[in-house]
Amino acid sequence: MSSTSLKASELLAPRCADCREVVEASVPVVNHGDLQFHIGCSPRCNTCGRAMEPGEGGWRSEGRVVWEPWGYTVRLSRLWCEQCLGNATLGEPQAHA
Ligand SMILES: [Zn+2]
Ligand SMILES: [Zn+2]
Repeated sequence: MSSTSLKASELLAPRCADCREVVEASVPVVNHGDLQFHIGCSPRCNTCGRAMEPGEGGWRSEGRVVWEPWGYTVRLSRLWCEQCLGNATLGEPQAHA
């Protein structure tokens, strides 16, 4: 019988918020608040469909808290990029076209 419980190092390791794999410190990541994503797992804008880029801010998201073996985390359901939010605020979608 082998234990299925996670080691402390696995519990504390940062996880990709999309694929749930441990994010190695050596690989580039996309950050959104407290969440991290691999570049290839980067979330996409619900309106224009483009992927979030490393270092980019100003995105808004909706999500729900879920329980994973290593603790509570947030599963994002919808996101909007800064440009789409800006366009919505101005009410002039063609302003920066
Ligand atoms: Zn990932
Ligand atoms: Zn967008």
